Amino acid sequence: MPAQVIVVGSYVQDQTWLVERFPQVGETLRAHGFNTGPGGKGFNQAIACTRQGAAVTFIGAIGNDALGGIAQHIAKNENLPCRWQIRNDQPTAAAGITVNARGENQIAISLGANEHLDADFVRAQADIFASARVLLLQMENNLDALAAALDLCTQHGLLRVWNPAPVHADLDLALLRRADIITPNETEFALLLQRFGNTKIDPANLAQQNDATLHALARQLGIATVVITLGAHGSFVSHGENQRGDSDACYRIAPESVHAIDTTGAGDAFSGALVAALVLFRERPFRDAIRHANRVAALSTEIVGAAPAMPNYAAVIARFGE
Ligand code: AMP
Repeated sequence: MPAQVIVVGSYVQDQTWLVERFPQVGETLRAHGFNTGPGGKGFNQAIACTRQGAAVTFIGAIGNDALGGIAQHIAKNENLPCRWQIRNDQPTAAAGITVNARGENQIAISLGANEHLDADFVRAQADIFASARVLLLQMENNLDALAAALDLCTQHGLLRVWNPAPVHADLDLALLRRADIITPNETEFALLLQRFGNTKIDPANLAQQNDATLHALARQLGIATVVITLGAHGSFVSHGENQRGDSDACYRIAPESVHAIDTTGAGDAFSGALVAALVLFRERPFRDAIRHANRVAALSTEIVGAAPAMPNYAAVIARFGE
């Protein structure tokens, strides 16, 4: 089946050590547990999207090394078609995560090949853009590669959804405005407003603001649709005036009640599932896609990990109904 969704994004091999306490400087400490698995915002979102039943193709860069081999193996097991740029000069990205007995973590990450995704490699994938409907981006890659993907959307008429995570140091507003929909969390939204709207707000207070205030803040960015994820407070949607001349609108979707034990990857679950719902529920209102994204993200918090915690469509329906 040709791709409905293209994710251009990052792959990171997460390696997690479970320890009683964090090691001291110079100390070698024995861990009582270890696990390794796929991560990277792009790959997590592609997995969340594909598990909802959308036909997804992932475009990303890995090294010509053992971790790159693991990435390809995991994608095959997940039935996720990928266009990998395999680089000889850069390693596959890896994150070293140490979790102590209190559940606190320390993370060191090397984005490796993700920051060297060639814009020409992206342009060479034009064939899949010709049939797809939506592009989904994050910000763990070099921006010129992401701009190349946006150019292909202009040529082929794809909807552009951008999860601005983490906000890239070199991002400019003109580039961000090429998105039709952005999905920042509270911290990213506050950072975007500070950089591009000259408004300083405390992300910790965002969820408590009234809808009119959030809407006015979101409109400062000049992007058609801004979806702010509010963690345990659900999400907020702000639409600008659309091309048909309909007036702007905003609303909140309440969080689902779940037993959250690990919110890692909840934002990735949200963006991946939102895009899946936009292609799968074509005739339904945007609000339904947001509700589905909220449900998928909530369920993902009940399982430890990011990509492995993404629920499939059947699990979401079994828990919350249609
Ligand atoms: P965040 O990236 O933390 O804003 O979370 C993304 C999305 O995950 C939110 O918009 C919610 O839909 C969902 N979510 C996160 N934490 C919780 C929670 N404790 N309970 C229910 N839903 C949650």
